[in-house]
Amino acid sequence: MQAYCLKCHTERQMQSARSVTMKNGRSATRGVCPVCGTEMYRIGKSGDAVLGMMTKATNESWLADVAADKVFRCHDGRVMKNPEQLGAALQEMSEETFQYHVTADRNDFSKWVEDVVGDHELSAGLRTSSTRSQAGKVVADRIVWLKGQGGTTSR
Ligand SMILES: [Zn+2]
Repeated sequence: MQAYCLKCHTERQMQSARSVTMKNGRSATRGVCPVCGTEMYRIGKSGDAVLGMMTKATNESWLADVAADKVFRCHDGRVMKNPEQLGAALQEMSEETFQYHVTADRNDFSKWVEDVVGDHELSAGLRTSSTRSQAGKVVADRIVWLKGQGGTTSR
């Protein structure tokens, strides 16, 4: 099964793919990139023909603002409502702020993207980003890709 590798920035054949159920109850397939070993996700069960067809609606929901009570409250007082704002914040926040949210045991950005935004591929990419600049690039690339896939014209 093909999935998008956030590190290679291309579609790859997913390795050691297995079906998992996500927190929101949907089925997904999880595996690793055969080239760089980065964790990959694909929404839907393996073998499902419809699987992975990233619809415009899905992409837009990942880019949309989250509910007011689910916003990401950053240590520096910043509030992020969508991945685009997260990307911008990652460019601007201090290393200290980044390290407050990303430690060896936790990654608040990845968790928020996973639990609230629901974009598992972006969450997986953030989880493997240990520096602020890397995380910022992962988010920026993902947004460009989502907008391209969704056919949404950039503002
Ligand atoms: Zn890769």
